[in-house]
Amino acid sequence: MHCKKCHHTDEAHRPSEKSSSLLKLGACQIPDCPCNQYMDEISQIDEELM
Ligand SMILES: [Zn+2]
Ligand SMILES: [Zn+2]
Repeated sequence: MHCKKCHHTDEAHRPSEKSSSLLKLGACQIPDCPCNQYMDEISQIDEELM
């Protein structure tokens, strides 16, 4: 998965300590990346959007 903000992978973001049921990740660890919170794509199952 990729962050909707910075388009880096979810692995590039440091995991949040508050591990809820949902995938919540914190700041991006890529140097010079201003992203401070992982933004997941809103689970789009709309594959017809083309
Ligand atoms: Zn990033
Ligand atoms: Zn990000």
